[in-house]
Parts: sequence; structure tokens; C-alpha cells
Amino acid sequence: MSFDIVIIGAGPAGLCFARSLAGSGLRIALVERQPEAALVAPADDGREIAITHHSQRLMRELGLWARLQENEIGTLRDAMVIDGDDRDGLIFRHDETGKSQLGWLLSNHAIRRAAYAEVMELPESERITGVQVTAVRTASDGAQVELNTGDILHTQLVVAADSRYSETRRAMGIAASMHDFGKTMLVLRMQHDVAHDQVAWEWFGVGQTLALLPLHDPHTSSVVLTLPPQEMQTLLALDDTALEAAMASRFQQRLGAMRIAGPRCSYPLVGVYAKRFVAERFALIGDAAVGMHPVTAHGFNFGLLGQATLARELHAAVAAGQPIYSPELLHRYERQHRLATRPLYLATRMLAGLYTDDRRPARVVRKLALRVGARLRPFRMAVMAGLTVDGGTELRGSRFRLGRSERVVAVRE
Ligand SMILES: Cc1cc2nc3c(=O)[nH]c(=O)nc-3n(C[C@H](O)[C@H](O)[C@H](O)COP(=O)(O)OP(=O)(O)OC[C@H]3O[C@@H](n4cnc5c(N)ncnc54)[C@H](O)[C@@H]3O)c2cc1C
Repeated sequence: MSFDIVIIGAGPAGLCFARSLAGSGLRIALVERQPEAALVAPADDGREIAITHHSQRLMRELGLWARLQENEIGTLRDAMVIDGDDRDGLIFRHDETGKSQLGWLLSNHAIRRAAYAEVMELPESERITGVQVTAVRTASDGAQVELNTGDILHTQLVVAADSRYSETRRAMGIAASMHDFGKTMLVLRMQHDVAHDQVAWEWFGVGQTLALLPLHDPHTSSVVLTLPPQEMQTLLALDDTALEAAMASRFQQRLGAMRIAGPRCSYPLVGVYAKRFVAERFALIGDAAVGMHPVTAHGFNFGLLGQATLARELHAAVAAGQPIYSPELLHRYERQHRLATRPLYLATRMLAGLYTDDRRPARVVRKLALRVGARLRPFRMAVMAGLTVDGGTELRGSRFRLGRSERVVAVRE
């Protein structure tokens, strides 16, 4: 079988990339190990994804937004960062930005469902699901992807979007810097007596980090708790009633009584940054290139941005009659995506380290950082511009030039 591009991994990044290539005339194969049924109706994985204004625009352009139901879209009006037992925190207010809200919240499974539905309608994309990739070979005269079915896909370019633990990246000999934060994150949809008022919280306590992500219903949020793995195991062993009481207590009863309204999903916290995003006739996109710690809520936003950057380069090459695998094209993609992602990746690592370190010096520094941030309007405006500016790669690049220290209190949108 012969294609122009083989995409490995039909997660949000791989699907959006296939969709972005619509109309290019390129023949695409999308290879995924999950069966088709799991892609048509993805299981709820508990993740609620904060979406920036720029990502929302891309999702509208790709047709995904129109496929979401109204009750699947949460409004992220304002955001608040709280430290320790403080009652109030650093508040990022939408009305300072001139926008009606800072962003949106969407379930990851809704994004996947919408993206797959779009891709199913593309005549130029062949979906090969329920298969394992057994080998990937690229050379100056072409590339091949071998499947466990015995099929060999011949292609001009291979694009891997097969998660932060990408087996294809490893098979291609591309190293990645991986940072294990040694913590586990629980994401759990909960109903609560006190309305969320469409305000997201990031609450750095002693021995735990909590986040509250407001969903469509005024009394339902996604609760995100980060703990050391052993403590998380103990918590996850509780029955529903005990877990509800434990969560209400961790929130110091600020939300009143809390009731479980979704599956319990936990994730090890590992940040990944590939040393290279490209090789001969090969590119990495999505988490396979940049796997962010969720605290700054940018994994999918970056995945969307990166695939759009690469797709734009490919459309331009086709239009100019140039090869879609040229090293110049691939390096342009790598340069742009690295510039757009590297500073926030590093700042997020620093932020996550600082805010999960319970030693006294770290506690003092973060309290100070929040107090300074609360008083500095330019600082708040810079952080909010990151969420609300709808300007594409170039603007994002300049936004991140603000410097790492200024990203210290960047919050989950
Ligand atoms: C708790 C949590 C909260 C998050 N919150 C946010 C947020 O608020 N905002 C945000 O922007 N991001 C957020 N993220 C990050 C976001 O979920 C990821 O960045 C995004 O899902 C990555 O998409 P992807 O397509 O690159 O990879 P994945 O979603 O990991 O998909 C990879 C796909 O590849 C397939 N695959 C893997 N290996 C192979 C193989 N060998 N062959 C074939 N197929 C293969 C898998 O089955 C899967 O379908 C969060 C993540 C977590 C864990």
C-alpha cells in the first residue's frame, strides 16, 4: 500500500493533523492501535482540557467545534491561584483582557470524538485501526511502516503522534528528555453545593495541589488532585462516600458537599521534550514531541499549534510543487515549534517543582511570587494574553519571550 503521509497515532494531535491536510491532495494513512469503535465513541478519560482562544479558532476552522454539544463546553471566565490556607489568591480576570472569557473547557473524549468524526468524512484519509506498528524505516529514497498484520505501508513521510511515550520516536533513535515529577494526578468530575461561577482554581497546599475546572453545569467541576503515588493509592481505595467526604475536606468545605459525577482517572506526572522533532522523512507532533505537565494546561494547545504549523508547511510545499519531505521544510517546522513551546515547557517544570516542594524556602518564594503577581497588572496581562490572544505561531513565540520568571504563576486556564 502506498501513501504520501503515514500518521501513527489517532489521538487528538494525529486526528487534527489528518484533518488539517484536507484539500492538499495528499493521500494519508492514519494508523492506530485502538479499534475503530473506541475512536468513534471514545471512553471518558476524566481529562478536561482548557482551550485557549487561539486553539478555539483552530478547532472551529477544522470543524471540530461545530460537532460539540452545548453542554460539553465549559466557560472559563476567570482563574484564581491560591497558596496554602489563604482565602483569596491571585486572580486573572477576563474583563481586564477585553474578552468575554479567558478560555473554554472541553472533555478530552469529546475532542477525540469530534476529531474522529471529521476525519471519517475525508476521502483522502485511510484509517487503519486495531493494528500494531512493528517497524518504521526511513531513508533518502522513501519510508516504510510495517504492521503486525504483515502489511507494509510505503510513504514519502512518516509523522508520529503516538503519545508522550512514543514507541516510534524511540524506534527512530530520537532521544527525549523526560522528567518524572514523582506524583500522581487524579481527575474526577464532581458536583458541589456552591456554584463555581466559571472560575478555575489552582490551589497549592501543603502536601497536595488541587485544581477546580468549571464545567457547563454551574455546580459541576473537574477536580484535579496531585499527590505522592502511595497517598493516592490509599485515596483511590476509598468507597464513593468516603472519597466524597475526603475531597470536600481537602477543599476545606469551600464548595460545600461534593458528590462524584464521573470516573476516577489517575495519571503519573511525566513531562517529555524530544531532543529533535524531525529526522529523515520523519516528524513528531503532539505529546510525542512535547508532553507537558498539565499544570499549565498546554499539552493539547501545543499539539494543535504544532500540527497546524507542520500542515501549513506541507500545504505550501504542495502548492509550490516541492517535496513534502525536504529537510528544509522539516527543520522550519522544528524551529517554529521549538520556539513556541520550549520556554513554557521549561517554565512549567520549574513551576511544578516549586509548587509541589513543601520545604520552607519554596513555600516562602511561592507566596512572594503570588503577592507580587497580584500587584503587578502588566504581569497579569501578560499571562492572560497567553490565553486570550488569537494570533498564531508568531504571536505565541513573542508571548513566550516574556521570560520564565513571569510564567511562574501561569495557571491552568
Ligand atoms: C490529567 C490531564 C489533564 C490535561 N489537561 C490539559 C489541558 O487542560 N489543556 C491542554 O492543552 N492539555 C491538557 N492535557 C494534555 C492533553 O491531554 C494531551 O496533550 C493530548 O491528549 C495529547 O494528544 P496526542 O494526540 O499527542 O497523544 P495521545 O492523546 O496520547 O494519543 C496518542 C494516540 O496514539 C495511539 N498510539 C500510541 N502508540 C501507538 C502505536 N505504536 N501505534 C499506533 N497507535 C499508537 C494511542 O492509542 C492514542 O490514540 C492534559 C493531560 C492530562 C493527563
